[in-house]
Amino acid sequence: MPTFAQHWWVGWFLSGCFENPTVAKGVYWGSVLPDVDVYLAFLFILLGREPEAMKIHRGPTHSLLCFALLAVCALTGIAPLFLMGFLFGMGVHVVLDFFFWLWFVDLFWPLRYWVSWAKPINLWDHVSRKTIETWGYYLELVDHMLVAAFLTYQKERHPDTIVCQYGPTTMLALIPALMIAHRHMSVRYFFALTHGIFMVLQMPLFVWVSVQWV
Ligand SMILES: [Zn+2]
Repeated sequence: MPTFAQHWWVGWFLSGCFENPTVAKGVYWGSVLPDVDVYLAFLFILLGREPEAMKIHRGPTHSLLCFALLAVCALTGIAPLFLMGFLFGMGVHVVLDFFFWLWFVDLFWPLRYWVSWAKPINLWDHVSRKTIETWGYYLELVDHMLVAAFLTYQKERHPDTIVCQYGPTTMLALIPALMIAHRHMSVRYFFALTHGIFMVLQMPLFVWVSVQWV
């Protein structure tokens, strides 16, 4: 992902451009849900299978195959409005992933296993690992600022909700904690930590917002 919150903001903005609430909800979910593969990747890391984990994120859920399957569902009448919105949001998500995170997108998954031209596409192949890690570190910090900004923005509309009252402070408090963690942890564990925060805090928050506000 660029960062989770960037996708979230984009999804929120784009969903507001559609009058039909079902389509709008689809756009919102499609903008973020492709990154649900982080859960599976994390499971593989816990099992000590890091090489496979690295191939899972931005694989099946970001692939043309996934687009095609969802399009077939929509065309055959399974939640067509929601899925049309979802496909649009997902398309924007994948395009953003190409440009704003220095990593590959396995657009042709699973063809990579059989044909040589269907390799994952990485526009940042020439960038060093060190640069990627530094860039990733700052993006993680920005991510928490963006979630805090999102909840602060929502506070005007939903002033009494606990999420808006305590969410921004919680997110901002994580920034110095992450900066300290970054100084004392290996890169591997630092990113495991940030992915953990994504899984237990941000994604449930995203779902909650969807159910309550979208
Ligand atoms: Zn992604």
